[in-house]
Amino acid sequence: MATTMVQLDGSVGEGGGQILRTALSLSMVTGTSFSITNIRANRPKPGLLRQHLTAVLAARDVCNGEVQGATVGSTEVTFTPGTVSPGEYHFSIGTAGSTTLVFQTLLPALMTADSPSTITLEGGTHNMFAPTVHFLQRSFVPMLARMGPKVDVALERYGFYPAGGGLVRMRIKPVSMLTPIECVVRDEITHRRAIATLASLPAEIGKRELHIVKNVLALGDHEMGVNQLKDTDGMGNVLGIELGDANHVEVFTGFGQRGVSAEHVARSAANEARDYLKYGAPIGTYLADQLMLPMALAGEGRFCTGPLSRHAETNAAVIESFLGTRIHQSHTDRITQIEIV
Ligand code: ATP
Repeated sequence: MATTMVQLDGSVGEGGGQILRTALSLSMVTGTSFSITNIRANRPKPGLLRQHLTAVLAARDVCNGEVQGATVGSTEVTFTPGTVSPGEYHFSIGTAGSTTLVFQTLLPALMTADSPSTITLEGGTHNMFAPTVHFLQRSFVPMLARMGPKVDVALERYGFYPAGGGLVRMRIKPVSMLTPIECVVRDEITHRRAIATLASLPAEIGKRELHIVKNVLALGDHEMGVNQLKDTDGMGNVLGIELGDANHVEVFTGFGQRGVSAEHVARSAANEARDYLKYGAPIGTYLADQLMLPMALAGEGRFCTGPLSRHAETNAAVIESFLGTRIHQSHTDRITQIEIV
């Protein structure tokens, strides 16, 4: 039974759901209870949405914990972890909420548990403001594998906002000790690929997106493709651009939205990719905030990224207050180095 209680204010920094998710992950791993107020205070609809509620309840189930305040719309939660039980789990978000964010909440405890787990999640698989399954498969999971845990992410069915209906299965082979990573240099970019995926929408939209990507990033026709889905609930469009050197791949995503042109969707994703090329660091903006927690659990490590997002700053502060770890930042030119020693 935990003896201390970490108090968190969910309105600090970015004031989004990540404060809660990071606290859940660290609580499960460390066995420390926490209490959080003002959950998602800076979001248009504050409090727990289905995705956050699923993360809370899934965390409780996986670590045999106890929770107060776990209802949709709740702005305060108290979480007391028990013992982590690796095994087979199935959670359904019930909306198109992000499955990947629920997965990332549970992963730290399960990737350091004493036996493997399989988690099946239903909901959204390619959501705005969240890593897509494609991002997990190509970018996040391979980086994690360098730290030891082997995770297989199988996309069984796509799920887009607002219909949802996605299904994803994650198999986790844990390690007892995480290996620190060092990822400070980017080599020559040798891998480029762009895939426009469409559900119940004309292939023409994908072709228009790829045309923009070709212009902005000078991809060859053999490096691009349209993926027309069958068997999804509702409509959806996602553009994934991969850039990689021999060691690491980054994924930049454009999300089709009603009322937003295919050209605009593609241009914003392609511009993110172009910025990544410009900064010259190996780790992209999103992976930077996602790597901090595993790196803090490893106890040491170092990576370089571009300018740090507010999300990453907030996440670093939560990790520091929970673990007492110091996440050092240093800046040279346009590159930020993140280091735990
Ligand atoms: P909410 O309060 O709605 O839950 P949040 O603050 O938790 O929001 P965000 O800041 O939007 O959520 O980010 C959630 C996570 O999703 C972050 O770890 C971020 O790196 C990741 N993320 C967001 N967009 C992308 C993207 N396009 N590609 C990869 N990861 C992404």
